[in-house]
Amino acid sequence: MAKSKIKILLIYTGGTIGMVKDFKTGSLKTFNFKNLLDRIPELQLLDCDINTVSFKKPIDSSNMNPKYWVQIAELIEVNYEAFDGFVVLHGSDTMSYSASALSFMLENLAKPVVFTGSQLPIGDLRTDAKENLITSIQVASMQKNGRAVVKEVCLYFEYKLYRGNRTTKLNAEHFQAFASMNYPDLAESGVHLKINNEYLFKPNLRKKLKVNKNLTEDIALVKLYPGISRTILESILNAPTLKAVIIETYGAGNCTTEKWFINLLKQAILKGKHIINVTQCLGGSVMMGHYETSSELKKIGVISGKSMTTEAAVAKLMYLLGQNISAKMFKTKYEASLRGEID
Ligand code: ASP
Repeated sequence: MAKSKIKILLIYTGGTIGMVKDFKTGSLKTFNFKNLLDRIPELQLLDCDINTVSFKKPIDSSNMNPKYWVQIAELIEVNYEAFDGFVVLHGSDTMSYSASALSFMLENLAKPVVFTGSQLPIGDLRTDAKENLITSIQVASMQKNGRAVVKEVCLYFEYKLYRGNRTTKLNAEHFQAFASMNYPDLAESGVHLKINNEYLFKPNLRKKLKVNKNLTEDIALVKLYPGISRTILESILNAPTLKAVIIETYGAGNCTTEKWFINLLKQAILKGKHIINVTQCLGGSVMMGHYETSSELKKIGVISGKSMTTEAAVAKLMYLLGQNISAKMFKTKYEASLRGEID
């Protein structure tokens, strides 16, 4: 009997990849997904069956939010058995947040979910969209001994495949828009598609896919800067619905040692709020207690985001808050690697 073809589901959420210029205003806006496929006849040459599904109203990813993440997760959930791999076309602006969120939502994922997009629309003469899309489909199609090679949520952009929850968008113009500073590339595309097997996530294959859809949005993200205002920080920490705050600190997790600052955080923790420490540096890790300027944070019970990106920290926070676990368990889980997001 002939071997059946690999089945790929292409999920179009929006983003530059499928945008056209509005001739009146000159700005880019989303357009019909059907036209996108018509513009890439090369897709017919791939040795797999591609089905497509699109958001009813494709969005610029600056409008992304957890409700859309649930939509993407549900599309994968209902099609999980029928397809071998998934490619999510997404605007690059918030792609790292979405890839991180989906990595936490899709527990025990054993198939590839590849996020990709482009810096230039597919119809543009110099577009980067074709290579990004074609190679993403190839990555999602890769199998060894009847199993997917990649079994995690990843992000493909400009010749590199990254672990999704390790990425950050760091350039608004270059084709190489993303970086994964704290984790090696999962694959590199050149003449050959070179997979770095040793860095791929190894899920427990005995467990079934579980889709976590309960995300809590009552959080805040505060970037530390010299001169941060006490009144403003106080009002954030006293926001009635607030459940947790991520503080983007300096260097290896350092902050001002001013009494009022530490006291505000301490009071918030005593009131049951979670305070997370991530670094505003793109690479490296939080090491609370390494400098005097972070030892107080450790003492009062601040949770370490270690080597996590801010994007992964936000997604993990929304996910874990939705899990209804004790404060102690919350800290243990937050500081542990759940999907390879932390060293
Ligand atoms: N603003 C666009 C978006 O994120 C940019 C892109 O697609 O790269 O949807």
